[in-house]
Amino acid sequence: MRQAVLIFGLCLGAGMGYCQGQPPDHPAVTVRGRTYTPRSILSRNMGTPEDATTQFPPHKIIGNIYYVGTKTLSSFLIVTRDGNILVDSTYERNVPVIRKSVEQLGFKFSDIKILLGSHAHGDHQEGDALVKELTGAQVMAMAEDVPALKAMKPGGKEHPVDKVLRDGESVTLGGTTLVAHLTAGHTHGCTTWTTRVEEGGKAYNVMIGCSLRSPQPLTPDVIAEMNRSFKFVRTLPCDVPLGDHPAQYSMTDKYAKLGNGRPNPFIDAANCYVEADIQEAMFRAILEEQQKSAPGRQ
Ligand SMILES: [Zn+2]
Repeated sequence: MRQAVLIFGLCLGAGMGYCQGQPPDHPAVTVRGRTYTPRSILSRNMGTPEDATTQFPPHKIIGNIYYVGTKTLSSFLIVTRDGNILVDSTYERNVPVIRKSVEQLGFKFSDIKILLGSHAHGDHQEGDALVKELTGAQVMAMAEDVPALKAMKPGGKEHPVDKVLRDGESVTLGGTTLVAHLTAGHTHGCTTWTTRVEEGGKAYNVMIGCSLRSPQPLTPDVIAEMNRSFKFVRTLPCDVPLGDHPAQYSMTDKYAKLGNGRPNPFIDAANCYVEADIQEAMFRAILEEQQKSAPGRQ
């Protein structure tokens, strides 16, 4: 059996180097009236194992940005006149699902020229080698995530990295520019992408957030990374918050409100930093708990 035992759908097959066990059900934090624990946040992000691999109806988000991911793993297609950009290939087994979504929207999978990623975890970037094989896309990755990506070898495939990016570097294709921002902590190279789109004659800032979920236990390096990231993400311009898991931006609720001449529900500046609020509260609670159990460690 290729599939490992799985709680919340986070374990990949053996040898993939990525398997998250069930996190603890403490500490608990309450943000904007909702209570979270590390376990409930992971469950919110991943849903069931089926959710992680089941197509969510592909849809236009705003401007030239489309959703082509599953129910719980985001994948974004950015369409330009010179070909398209894909952000997050997710699990390798999801690549046919993403391809189907791209085609259902009327685009060609082979028009993907650049493959970007949120972070070096298998549920977000395991499919990179297969996407490159099928499209010939250039794979670009934040320098700090390259070692972890290189260790990701589904079926023995080498993880492709054609261009190494630095914090603040831009990626441009067909008139669209995405900026790679290092928002480390969840992984060392966790990348938040920003871009600008136009819709209805107005320009909007789009922010594709990288997970800010605390790893446990927290090491001094990661504590420093997360402290910087929580402060930094709140400085990013944002009208349209997106994230590497749809639950981070309430995709299902917003999707249900699409259409019929109503305002685009994905324009939601008021909630751009809610995910940072939730994850920072959790990070501080985990840190406090950790310091109480092992005083002096940090
Ligand atoms: Zn992750």
